[in-house]
Amino acid sequence: MDVLHIETSNKTYPVYVGQNAIALLPDFLKENNAFGSSILIITDESVGHLYLQTLKDTLSDIEKEVYVSIVPSGEKAKTFDVYYSCLTRALEFNLNRKSLILALGGGAVGDLAGFVAATYMRGIPFIQIPTTILAHDSAVGGKVAINHEAGKNMIGAFHQPEAVFYDLNFLATLPLHEVRSGFAEIIKEALIEDPDFYSWLTTNIHSMDLIDMDQLAFAIKKGIAVKGGIVKQDEMENGVRAYLNFGHTLGHAIENSVGYGSITHGEGVMIGMVFALKLSIKYAGLNFDLTSFINWVTSLGYKTKIPSSLKAEQLIYAMKKDKKTTGREITFVLLAEEGKPITKTMADDEIITEIELMFE
Ligand code: NAD
Ligand code: ZN
Repeated sequence: MDVLHIETSNKTYPVYVGQNAIALLPDFLKENNAFGSSILIITDESVGHLYLQTLKDTLSDIEKEVYVSIVPSGEKAKTFDVYYSCLTRALEFNLNRKSLILALGGGAVGDLAGFVAATYMRGIPFIQIPTTILAHDSAVGGKVAINHEAGKNMIGAFHQPEAVFYDLNFLATLPLHEVRSGFAEIIKEALIEDPDFYSWLTTNIHSMDLIDMDQLAFAIKKGIAVKGGIVKQDEMENGVRAYLNFGHTLGHAIENSVGYGSITHGEGVMIGMVFALKLSIKYAGLNFDLTSFINWVTSLGYKTKIPSSLKAEQLIYAMKKDKKTTGREITFVLLAEEGKPITKTMADDEIITEIELMFE
């Protein structure tokens, strides 16, 4: 079992990564007497069906009351109504300021449960138990949120977990498009921060459904290390944390415009990364073999072009709405070199010209 440590301004917390990582949870809870006598597990319907019993069994001899709140799967978990219902459950179960919330699920459950923990009685402890590859990113760093009709993650907080137990056994049931979604973020982390890791990925990863457990464990740990390093430098996202948005400006706009669910987050981000790499070569002096990159990610099953159902103007509008800007320009994260992100602000007409070249 590997353990990484995430350093933040007021605490350092462990991230256990490995097969059967949750077996370490009971001892962690016993050693941390600070946690009170009750636990609320928040999980979604799909993950609950698959792994709730495993988690409950793991907790069977810890002498705490264990309660459960099951929420809808996916983005439907991140609504105000679901958030409110979790708070109601917590009040019904008499959770107090020392009670612990366990988030068992992907990024959606982690964001929701973390926001419940951040706000219930002005903040109670929580532990992340991520079950998707994407959640290697969302479970670390303390950004927690729910959505508003006006936009994703509009209501949130910074609330760091007490620990992350990343049990790789849970990933076995992930559908392939979710594997791809999470792996896009790993490729992003390599590109923005770790050229050696990027070259390891291109050498070793040739098919999403043939990744073996050792490779997956290595890639996830590297990804978490990149994220942890950036969070350490800029916990509250005043500067370098924004580099994690590489590929996300256009990626989010595609995700929003085609409608959530028809393309996964990471699949949108991959198209956004191809776009950002193109811009980086043209405007930021990046020396990069884009053709090989496109061939590689295409062989992994990613799309690299914008769906033809969308229009450039619509994407510009969506990017501005996402970033809440009204001016005639948009700022992108680009790479000056592999591992050296920068930001560049570009005018609308220039962006439209570039986007027009990206359609399928
Ligand atoms: P998700 O939690 O919606 O999970 C995707 C789907 O996979 C869901 O239907 C879920 O039920 C299912 N699932 C989860 N684990 C499974 C398993 N082991 N086996 C089978 N099915 C499983 O989505 P996600 O991709 O993990 O996360 C996306 C969310 O994360 C978004 O809401 C995004 O805003 C958020 N996010 C947050 C941060 C952050 O820093 N807080 C960073 C990135 C993304
Ligand atoms: Zn992302």
